[in-house]
Formats: sequence, structure tokens, C-alpha cells
Amino acid sequence: MSAIESVLGPRLAAAASMASPREAEGVLLSARNLVKTYRARGHRRVQALSDVSFDMIPGETLGVVGESGSGKSTLARAVMALPAPDAGTVHFDGAPVFAARGAPLRALRQRMQMVFQDPMSSLNPAHRILDIVQMPLEVAGRGDARTWREQAMQALASVGLDGNMVGRRRPYELSGGQCQRVSIARALVLRPELLVCDEPVSALDVSVQAQVLNLLEDAKAAHNLTMLFISHDLGVVRGISDRVMVMYLGKVCELAPTDALYRSPRHPYTATLLASVPSLEPSRRARHPDAPASARGETPSPLAVPSGCRFRTRCPRASERCAQEVPQLLAVAGTHGPGEPQGPLGHAVACHHPLPAPD
Ligand code: ADP
Ligand code: MG
Repeated sequence: MSAIESVLGPRLAAAASMASPREAEGVLLSARNLVKTYRARGHRRVQALSDVSFDMIPGETLGVVGESGSGKSTLARAVMALPAPDAGTVHFDGAPVFAARGAPLRALRQRMQMVFQDPMSSLNPAHRILDIVQMPLEVAGRGDARTWREQAMQALASVGLDGNMVGRRRPYELSGGQCQRVSIARALVLRPELLVCDEPVSALDVSVQAQVLNLLEDAKAAHNLTMLFISHDLGVVRGISDRVMVMYLGKVCELAPTDALYRSPRHPYTATLLASVPSLEPSRRARHPDAPASARGETPSPLAVPSGCRFRTRCPRASERCAQEVPQLLAVAGTHGPGEPQGPLGHAVACHHPLPAPD
């Protein structure tokens, strides 16, 4: 096993070394300095995304975790330009997404599809399942009525549904798990390159969650998809992601290959998140003595975020500097030893006093 494989795992290492011209550049989607502010009641404002930047390489699954309100859904929508954020850029396969209009924007959107949390409300209750799944093909004007039907049947089959059985039903006649399969079929029917999944299993029973996660993994392999996978569930994200990005109050705290993040979190917030899920916490002996066991107090109101580091009011390691200076997301050294990939695939943390690397 090469050094890069031992750090990234074989899948991500293979993706990182693919040779076609686009992939040689190593990036399918590049988000820079995304900012999104919502108006709240009165004249108050919520900065739901604050200077968020990251890259995605072809074939990887990038997991996004964070508490409710940390900006995950806003990020998903920003990436898809649904709507575009207030500032920042997203490039997809080199094309600026927010600058695109009309036909070029529609063409880009077909290459990037989204699966939402609530399968029922994301499917039009008045439409039949087969029509829902073939609609994107009709809108895109690809093929004719006969091929639309064939491709919709295939997409349904690929998510384990028989179009002859469910095709004429309406969403409310299916279970939540079946509806989520339909949403995935609808997202896949255009053969996208990027799938953005916003809490795709959070509304499902635990037993059904596993089926839908397996299905996403299979679809990803079959279609060579790149996936942005959002969830507040750290266990789910760990199972499916090659790399993980941790968000807190609209900012990225930490971004790292999955194993590195779960084995040796460097941001105090990541450490407290992991500590809050006992089954995921690194064994107490393995955990670094400096790692905080739990964060103090409540998450601050998004209407009044702390100056400097947004986590500082809850952070046991906070100093005066944390109140003055916003920490930038920077690569940390020493997590993986020799051969550590730098740049977009390394371990990065936004903290003035990161937890030390384990020995
Ligand atoms: P998450 O998906 O991580 O729960 P969101 O992206 O939905 O987070 O929300 C981030 C912040 O933006 C929250 O404080 C939320 O209340 C606020 N927010 C989200 N959507 C809107 C909206 N349409 N109008 C006003 N505030 C919003
Ligand atoms: Mg959300």
C-alpha cells in the first residue's frame, strides 16, 4: 500500500491519481469564500455561511457534519445555486456556477443533483412515481417519450423498485424509505456527476437508513459519482465519507480524511462532538489528555455570534487571541507523518490552539 493510500484509503487515492485531463487537475468542485446572510425578524441578520471554502475531488464522498443551525443546508443550496449565496464562487468542472444563466446553467444543474431530507415533501403528491422520475429527462429534452419511460424504469430498478409495481402510484401510497428511493432515482436519471445529499436518511427509521445508505454507496460506485453528504449524525457520516468537514455556526472548523478526523480530531469542537457520541469516541486511553470532554454552555444564538472564533465562548482552550482574531482554516502538520498529502486533501483546522497530534 502506498503512503497516499494508507492515508486516504484506496478509493480516494485512486480518485486522486486518475489521469484524464479534468481529473488530473484533481478537483471537480471548488467552493471559495461562500457567504450567505439571512434577514431574521426585525432588522437582525443571521450569517448562515461565513467564508466557507473547500474542494471536492472526482469520486470522493465529502461528509459535512454540524449541529442543527450550523449552515449545512444553506451550504448545500449555495453549491447548487438554489439560490446562489451573497458572495463567493463555486466552480464545477472549471465552470463558474453562479455566473451561468439560461441554458448553460440548466446544463450545469443537470450534472449536479440533490436529494433532500424529507422524501414526502420533496415529491409532488399529485404526480405518479414514473412521471416524477422521468420529469428531469423531459425538462432536459433528452430523448423522446419512449426512452424517458425506459430510463425512468431503469432508474427505479437501480434503487430496488419495480416500476411496474410502483410506477402508477403516488408518493403518499409509498413508505418513507420507498419515497427516498424514488428521490434518489429522480436524482440519478440524468446521470449526474455530483450528488448533493442533505440529510438523506435523517427522516427514516434506523433499519431503513442502512438500506438507503447502501443504495447510495452502490449508486455512487455504479455511476462514478462524487458526493457531498450532509448529516448531523456522526456515525452515518463516518461510514460513508472519504473526508469530513465539520461546521459550527456557519464556519468550517476542521476538514480531514475520515480516519484522521475520527482518530485524532484537532479542533476542540470536533473533539467535543465526538465525545458526545460515546460509541465513536476514541478510547479514553487513546484520547489525548488535552481533548475537552464536553463543551461548556449552550450554542450561542446565530443572531449574535461571538467575535473572533465562534466556538471560543464554549471552548476550554480559548485565550484572549480567540476573541480578537478569526482563525483561518490551515493545514496541520504531523497528523500522518511522512507522505502526508498537503493541499486540498490534507488535515486542516481553524483554531488558534489546536489539540496536539497524538504521539
Ligand atoms: P442546518 O442545515 O445546519 O441545520 P441551516 O443552513 O438550515 O442549518 O441554517 C443555518 C442558519 O440560518 C440557522 O440559524 C437558521 O435559522 C438560518 N436560516 C436558514 N434558512 C433561513 C431562512 N430562509 N431565513 C432566515 N434564516 C434562515
Ligand atoms: Mg439542514
